[in-house]
This record gives sequence, C-alpha cells and structure tokens, in this order.
Amino acid sequence: MTQTLPAAVGFLAEIRAETGRGAGRPLEPVFASLGSRAELQEQSAGQALRIVLLHSGAPDDAHARAGGRTLALAGELYNQDELVRLLPGAARPDSDAALVLALFEIYDLHAFRLLNGRFAALLAAPGRVVLGTDHAGSVPLYLSAAPGRVLAATEAKALRTAPAGRRLPARPVRRLPGTHQVPAGTVLDIQVAAGDCTAHRTWAPPLARRTVPEEEAAETVRHALDRAVRTRTGPGTPLVVLSGGIDSSSVAALAARRAAGPIDTVSMGTDLADEFPQARVVAQHLASAHREVTVPTGDLLRRLPHTVWAAECLDPDIIEYLLPLTTLYLRLAGTGRRILTGYGADIPLGGMHREDRLPELDTAICRDMATFDGLNEMTPTLSGISGHWSTHPYWDRDVLDLLVPLEAGLKRRYGQDKWVLRAAMGDLLPHEVVIRPKLGVHEGSGTSSSFTRLLIDAGVVPERVRQAKQLVVQELFDRVVTEGRHPNEVPLDTVVEQVTGPLLSGARPVP
Ligand code: ATP
Ligand code: MG
Repeated sequence: MTQTLPAAVGFLAEIRAETGRGAGRPLEPVFASLGSRAELQEQSAGQALRIVLLHSGAPDDAHARAGGRTLALAGELYNQDELVRLLPGAARPDSDAALVLALFEIYDLHAFRLLNGRFAALLAAPGRVVLGTDHAGSVPLYLSAAPGRVLAATEAKALRTAPAGRRLPARPVRRLPGTHQVPAGTVLDIQVAAGDCTAHRTWAPPLARRTVPEEEAAETVRHALDRAVRTRTGPGTPLVVLSGGIDSSSVAALAARRAAGPIDTVSMGTDLADEFPQARVVAQHLASAHREVTVPTGDLLRRLPHTVWAAECLDPDIIEYLLPLTTLYLRLAGTGRRILTGYGADIPLGGMHREDRLPELDTAICRDMATFDGLNEMTPTLSGISGHWSTHPYWDRDVLDLLVPLEAGLKRRYGQDKWVLRAAMGDLLPHEVVIRPKLGVHEGSGTSSSFTRLLIDAGVVPERVRQAKQLVVQELFDRVVTEGRHPNEVPLDTVVEQVTGPLLSGARPVP
C-alpha cells in the first residue's frame, strides 16, 4: 500500500460456466487508461474465470484469493485503519484487495457498506459473482450477464463486442445491448448459472439536514477534509491541480501543511482565459513548485474526443467541465503521478447556485445529489489516459456524509457561497482567496465559450447551440465507445459538420 499509484486502475473479467451457453471468444482488453496488463486464469467448480488487470507494477496487490473466492480491485481504500480493526488476529492484509476479501469472509456483500474508497471491485465465488462500486461510483463499472456468463469491466468500451446480455437492474449503456453500468454505492449479486442479479444499495446521499453551530460546523469540515487529503496523499510529493478557487486552494493548503517539502501545483489556462493570477497568489502563499500550462483553444477543443473516450459520458455540461482537466492531464509528462483535485465540492455545497434563497439552494443540492450517478464526472480515466491517478477529497464518503446534511444556511451565509468551507479554511489561506467567488473550470478556462464559438462558426444559431453540443458529444460517444475507435482517429471538425448539417438545413437529426 506504499506505492504511488493504486495497484490496479482497471480490469476486464469474464466468468463462464464450463457447460451450456457460457462458451465464447474472449474479449479484447481495450482500455483508455494506461497501465500494464496482467492476466489471471482459474478453473474451478465448473466455472472458468479470466481477469485482465490494468496495473501499475504490482498486479499481485490488485487481487486476492482465499476460501475459493477471488477478488479484483481497481482503485484504493481510504479507511484501511478502521477496517483492519474489524479483522481477527494481528496480521494486516498486505493489500486493499486482500483487506476487502477478508472483510467479505466476515460480512459477505455487506462488507461494501464499510468501505470508504475510490474503487470498482469484482468477487468471483463458485456459482456467484459480486460487483461493487464505491459510494460515489467514482470508478465506473460495467457488466453484461446472461445465463452461464458474466462479463465486467471498468470501461464500457471493453464490453463493446460482448454478446447481447439480459436486462438487469442497472443503467443500460447507449447502443451496447445488454451492457449496464453498476450504480453508485451498489453491489450486484449475480448467480452465474441463471444470470439472475440482485442489487443492494450500500450508500445513499443523506436526505435529512443537521443544524450545527457555526464554529463546530467549520471545525468538523476542516477535520474531515484534512483527513480526506491525508489519506489520498501517497508517499511522494503531492500534486494539486490548482485554480486559485476556494476548493482546490483548500486541498493544496491542507496537503502543503503536511508535506515535508514544497508540494507541486499546476494551473491550466487557454489563449482566451485563465485564472493564473489567482492561482499564483495561492502558490506563492504555500511556496509550492508551481507550473502554468497554456493550451491554445484549438488544441483544447481537439481533446473533446479524448474526454468522451475517457469519461464515457453523454452529458455535454459534464464534458465541458472535464475537457480542460483532460487536456491538462495529457500535458503532464513523465511517470504516473497521484493528483489531488478540488473537484466536486460544489455538489454537496451548492456552489454553482448563484442566488441567496435557501430553499432553491437545497433544491439544487438535492437534485445534484440525486442525479450525479452515471455521469462519470469523477472517473480516474480522465487522468488515466496519460498514466496519472486523480482523486477528489470532497467526494470522500465521510466528507460527503458531513457536507450534504449541513443545513443550507451554513452553505450560503453572509452573502457568500460555500461559507462553511471558507470559514473552515480561514487561517490557512490569504483572505482574498477565502472570499473569492466561485468560478467554474469551464468558465475560467473559456472552455464553454470556445465550444459555443466552434458551433456558431459552423453556422448553428445561438438557440440551438445546446442541442448541437449534445449531438456532438453523442456522436463522439458512438465513435469512441460504441464503435471502439481511438480518439486520435476521430477528427472533431468532421463530427461537427456531420451533426450540425441537419440542424442547419432544419432536418431532424437522428437521435
Ligand atoms: P471554485 O469552485 O470556488 O471556483 P475551484 O476552482 O477549486 O473552486 P472548480 O471551479 O469547481 O473548483 O473546479 C474543479 C476543480 O478542477 C478545481 O478544484 C481544481 O482542482 C481543478 N481546476 C479548475 N480549474 C483549473 C485550472 N484552471 N487549472 C488547474 N486545475 C483546475
Ligand atoms: Mg473554480
């Protein structure tokens, strides 16, 4: 557990009953994430198991075997210390995979209710396959199941050529018949012979709200976030993607406070817009080794296919948030780094909500917490396509369990958004940073406006720009996920031409 990156960042698994309809050609292990590959094959109790692990040098730490069960884990846990105390005996399992398997032996699938992590897991036992996601589904997990076979992978494109599976209690993937995404905070328990599947929810966003005195709220937020940053910081120098906004500045400040030497920070901007001056204030305050990366707008937009390829997401707003980050990650050369972000703070804190009324703030928080699942906003594959591992302290399970239920008046207070976070960080950051209003990554980098400009220049009228963005993202998804093409082979201009043509002529585009 001391290496920089998680043991594995992805997997493809096939479980087939050796008799009946299970047989078939093995799937190609196709991933957008970079990594070495290791293949495990097992044959027991009339069942064949094949797992291809996408690993970072220690494949043996990414899987565990005991009592006739095999467990593969992509990602990592953040509450190992409390979990280890649940095990009999003094020996500490030597990997997160071994720890989850040991807990499974005690709690069966309820073990997943105990985990705070960023992972997708697969457990194969005789006649049974269990698939589990973390509370936020932050490492996407897909499956296709039919009597006698279960196929699962951390990227949908790896199941692209799977034979059609049966309908399951999970979200279908566009144009991949029978392929589904395992919901966030969910364990699917699958009987291999029948292909029957039962879903168990292991986490749900809290619905109730708690009233807490100001000072106590700020203190508990500081403590929880500090812990989330600490557990995500590996043995090397932390690297924080920094905008100078309160979310990433807080993460950087907490990481810097614990680091032995200067931390690394990096900011991204374009020829149209940047937040460089704001990020510099923070970098200077923390004495970080800071870099600025300027990306020409044309190069930024050319990464749209890569962003859809990595995120496997059909939502154009989310793709706009993720595009600048994907572009930045692709420019971080060198060996794989562990990257901390301030991503996602706005969802439990309602930071995107720019008015003073509290009912609307809580309505927005309830809506966002009810609809994040399946967007793949937090996926590690965005940085994985350049060999890095990103992790988001605000979406730590314990941080969310604290932030979501805080009454809305602690989130919007004294005319400030995200008040409780600003109060929590007041002593660690310059005042101007603490009071800086929110600016979204898609705004600060000019991403939304340059995507809009691209479509307007292609002849789309302003009122159809949103629809055009949706169609572009959908078309990109079809090419890089459903058809399995590499994003380098998908020129953005031809896709834009193809989807805007029908919009311009008034013909209805094919959905
Ligand atoms: P605020 O929400 O108050 O603006 P923020 O800028 O830190 O704070 P977002 O705007 O929500 O947060 O952006 C999400 C995350 O993406 C950031 O926390 C940061 O980690 C990363 N990020 C955003 N903009 C940049 C940028 N220009 N360069 C590098 N990383 C960025
Ligand atoms: Mg920002």
